[in-house]
Amino acid sequence: MSRNAESTAFRSALEVIRAVEPRVADAIGAELADQRESLKLIASENYASPATLLAMGNWFSDKYAEGTVGRRFYAGCQNVDTVEALAAEHARELFGAAHAYVQPHSGIDANLVAFWAILADRVESPALKKAQARHVNDLTEADWFALRRELGDQRMLGMSLDAGGHLTHGFRPNISGKMFDQRSYGTDPATGLIDYDRVAEAAREFRPLILVAGYSAYPRKVNFRIMREIADSVGATFMVDMAHFAGLVAGKVFTGDFDPVPHAHIVTTTTHKSLRGPRGGMVLCGPELADQVDRGCPMVLGGPLPHVMAAKAVALAEARRPDFADYAQRIVDNAQALADGLLRRGATLVTGGTDNHLVLIDVSNYGLTGRQAEQALLDSGIVTNRNAVPQDPNGAWYTSGIRIGTPALTTRGLGATEMDATAELIHTVLSQTTAGTGPDGAASKAKYVLDPAVAEQVGKQAADLLTPFPLYPTVDLA
Ligand SMILES: *Cc1c(COP(=O)(O)O)cnc(C)c1O
Repeated sequence: MSRNAESTAFRSALEVIRAVEPRVADAIGAELADQRESLKLIASENYASPATLLAMGNWFSDKYAEGTVGRRFYAGCQNVDTVEALAAEHARELFGAAHAYVQPHSGIDANLVAFWAILADRVESPALKKAQARHVNDLTEADWFALRRELGDQRMLGMSLDAGGHLTHGFRPNISGKMFDQRSYGTDPATGLIDYDRVAEAAREFRPLILVAGYSAYPRKVNFRIMREIADSVGATFMVDMAHFAGLVAGKVFTGDFDPVPHAHIVTTTTHKSLRGPRGGMVLCGPELADQVDRGCPMVLGGPLPHVMAAKAVALAEARRPDFADYAQRIVDNAQALADGLLRRGATLVTGGTDNHLVLIDVSNYGLTGRQAEQALLDSGIVTNRNAVPQDPNGAWYTSGIRIGTPALTTRGLGATEMDATAELIHTVLSQTTAGTGPDGAASKAKYVLDPAVAEQVGKQAADLLTPFPLYPTVDLA
């Protein structure tokens, strides 16, 4: 692909947008500039390819396509059928799944689809059958009460939030916390690792309908074969949310017991994290759950986004190429280099290291909260996010951790040498930052003191690290 074609495509698009609302064109241009300049260590972000991005900006956005391939509620969906079928085929081939549903708009939506599919599969409920047979808008209040009564408080067992689980696995701020009676399994306080015997014990006591594995901040592999055995021992449906590590599964870094697809009844994911596709979600399952999963829209999803499904097809085609496996391996190699660099400089890491794409630094040894550390790093040109650590004394808002991940920087081409340099920059900032005090002189969990000269110096070094690895090198907007 010539540099020329990609530059021309984006430049022309901006020119067309600028003619209508120049501030939007400017913001799009500014976003590229900002992304190019920042050392992005946010574990859930990445940079999609120009082909993936361009596949989203077109008239597929104009189409309604409720239903599934070949069975639509609207006429004229033949081209949407083409891209949806392609995306699903690539997903099935890539992950070795019997069925792929590529309509979910996000990871949260994919989980909702999975939850309802499992409920419909497992719970005898006339009200649910009625709800599925009609449009949501046609249900009366009495129908909803019946639904609630018949579905009852079904039980879900998932990973606790502070051990790295996700809000959608039965926690209060998400509807899953209201739909399900939830209990969670944590990690061993001594090692930070999942203790499968404890999970099995919790499952025996609680007897969940759904056992959920998957995480947003656990820096280790999960043995899905063992988790499936636990689910089977109590008759639970085993669901894996691989939103964060789908790219490592696609790239065959996680195989055997660590590949969720052959072990889970149902797998959900985002498409925009380590998988490096457009912002969206996806559900994979066997034939038993396929029909229920395909009812995702309109049960819990709005109309499909055909332009995003087109982009999913492009990104999944990219992930099937041999160089994606190389990319996935480099993500993990980089995370390990980053972890080693931090450990060598005296940082404390949850679980003592990593075997996936992310590292969780416990910043309390630097005398900081996660919030102070996050802001001090941001002042120094390093973009991360704060995150709770197991049994976090500072709670979910201030936290005691910093989560960093390598999918984005690996896409840019940075390698082990740059990861060690990054570890040095992070350690410099954290060791030079001190906790501030509030107006009353008491210790603050938010205020911090960092010499602006240090922040500026680190910011320069971070920028220098990126210079040899231009982001979107084929795109020149000037
Ligand atoms: C990111 C994430 C999600 C949510 O994805 P969205 O696309 O933001 O809705 C769900 N589950 C897990 C484990 C995640 O990490």
